[in-house]
Formats: sequence, structure tokens, C-alpha cells
Amino acid sequence: APYPISVAGTVVKGFGRGSKELGIPTANMNEEALEEMFTEFTTGVYYGWAQVGKTDKTVYPMVMSLGWNPYYKNEKRSAEVHILHEFESDFYDESIRIIVTGYIRPEQNYPSLEALICDIKTDIEVAKHSLKRKAYDDLRNDELFTKNQ
Ligand code: ADP
Ligand code: MG
Repeated sequence: APYPISVAGTVVKGFGRGSKELGIPTANMNEEALEEMFTEFTTGVYYGWAQVGKTDKTVYPMVMSLGWNPYYKNEKRSAEVHILHEFESDFYDESIRIIVTGYIRPEQNYPSLEALICDIKTDIEVAKHSLKRKAYDDLRNDELFTKNQ
């Protein structure tokens, strides 16, 4: 896919797999945004920028997992965005805007929770590092984020 790609949607309830309990809450995107993303991207882990709601103008780094849920016999897909920021409260039903700047790796089935968490921590480091590049940093001023009021 030709990056960067912008997607706007809303935050919906996820599968309740307890991502938050692992310290990695993921904002699940609504069905329409999912539809758009699955036509643009293959499954896997991506990184980029995210902005949430109407009052907070900040653009945060994010990592996003796009995939099929094994628990639902791979019949349910999801786009889950983990934002690299500690929010004071949940933001279900809020609007969410993301710019995907690149692909990190394919999805994997993990033998253990430790292995999964270890990979996610690496993804986060990759995202933080890559997003410092000027061309990526400039995207924080993209119309998608600034036109929001
Ligand atoms: P669900 O299965 O409903 O997606 P999660 O355990 O993945 O539950 O938690 C996701 C929710 O946590 C998001 O919808 C959002 O409201 C909230 N949240 C709080 N902090 C973050 C964050 N840094 N990144 C993503 N979501 C967050
Ligand atoms: Mg989630």
C-alpha cells in the first residue's frame, strides 16, 4: 500500500480479551473503518499517528494490529490501535483519526503471553524510532488532524 494512509472512524467495544489487563489497551475501530482498512492493507502490525475525540488536539504515536480473531474461528476481523499515551479515562464511542505510515511485521500466533508482549514492546520501539523521521513527524500537522475544528 502507498503510505501514508488516513482513516477516520469511531472506537467500539472489542472482544474483551483483556488487552488492558496486559497494559496494552487497544482501541478497536468500527466496522466501516475496518472495511476500508482491509481493502488497503494486508493483516499485520502497522505504526503511525492517532488523534482521539474532539477536544484533545494532540497527535500521538500508535501501533496498530490488523487481523482475524482465532477465538471467533477467524470469522471476525479487527483493527486495534494501541496509542502510546496514558489516558485518564476510556474513550469508547469517540471519534478516532489515524495516519498509517508503515508496516512493521506480519501477525503471529504466540506460544506464550510473554512472547507476545515482548514483540509488542519491540513494535513500540520501532514505531517511536521511525516516527522521528522528519517526513513522518510532519504528518502530525496533516489536514486530517488540523481540520478537526
Ligand atoms: P476492548 O476489548 O473493548 O477493546 P481493551 O482492553 O482493548 O478493550 O481496552 C481498549 C479501550 O481502552 C479503548 O477502547 C479505550 O477506550 C481505552 N484506552 C485507554 N488508553 C488507551 C490507549 N493508550 N490506547 C488505546 N486504547 C486506550
Ligand atoms: Mg481492544
